[in-house]
Amino acid sequence: MALLEIEAVSKAFGSLKAVDDVSFSVGAGEIFGIAGPNGSGKSTLFNIVTGIPFGPDRGRVRLDGTEIQARTGDAIARLGLARTFQRETSFDGLTVFENALIGAGFGKPGRPARVIREAAAEALDVVGLPDGAFGRLAGELSVYERKCLMLATAVAMQPRVLLLDEPASSLTKPEIEASIGLIRRIAARGVTIVLIEHVLTFLMTLSQHLLVLNNGRVLAAGAPEAVIADPRVVEAYLGT
Ligand code: ADP
Ligand code: MG
Repeated sequence: MALLEIEAVSKAFGSLKAVDDVSFSVGAGEIFGIAGPNGSGKSTLFNIVTGIPFGPDRGRVRLDGTEIQARTGDAIARLGLARTFQRETSFDGLTVFENALIGAGFGKPGRPARVIREAAAEALDVVGLPDGAFGRLAGELSVYERKCLMLATAVAMQPRVLLLDEPASSLTKPEIEASIGLIRRIAARGVTIVLIEHVLTFLMTLSQHLLVLNNGRVLAAGAPEAVIADPRVVEAYLGT
C-alpha cells in the first residue's frame, strides 16, 4: 500500500481552480517529483496535503491508510508529515541550534531534553551545518544556509514523509549539487520525499516517479524519462 495517497483533491480561489482533481500515490521510501510551470498549483497542492494553511475543498488524503484531509496542519505534522516552504522560513532572531530544537521538540511532549538536543544536532549534521554554526542567528545565514536550516528543522521532526517546495530555487550550481546530495542523504534515512521543483534536471536526477501539473491538473505522470518526453509536457514548458 502507498504511504501517501492523494485522491481527487481540488482547491479553488474564487473562480480560479488552483488544484483541480489531482490524484497520485507515493510509496514508502520513494523520492517523488512534482514539476510544472509557475502558477500550475504545485505549492497549493502541498498546502492541501499538509493542511498548512488549508485543506482541500474536495478529495481525500491518506497517510499510511489514515484519512487526514479534515485534520489541522498541526495534527497532520504530528502524524509524521513535514514540509518546507518555497521561501526560506526560520525564526531569524533565534540561533541555528534553537531553530532545530523547535523541530526536534515539535509534537513530542515528554521527550527528554537530552533526546531533543541530540535529534537537533543530528539533523543539523545531516544537512551539513557544522557545530561552529550552531550559535549563529538564523537571520544572518546565507540563502543556502537558510535553506539547509529549514531542511534541518523539518528533518529534526523525524517525519515519515517530507514535502520539499523548490529546495533548489535561487541556488548556485554547486549549491544545487550539494542539495541533491543532502536530499539523497535524508532519503537514505528512510524518509519518503515529495519534491517540487521548477528545474526539471534536478527532479530527473532525484525522482523515481515524476508528475507534471499544468493549470492545476495532472498533465503527465510516470517514469521520469517518459514524462519529460511527453509532447504535452514539452509544450507546457516551452510555452512558459
Ligand atoms: P506554483 O507553486 O505551481 O507556482 P501556486 O500553487 O503557488 O503555483 O499557485 C497556483 C495558482 O493559485 C496561481 O494562479 C496563484 O496565483 C493562485 N493562488 C495560490 N495561492 C493563492 C491564495 N492564497 N489566494 C489566491 N490565489 C492563490
Ligand atoms: Mg510554488
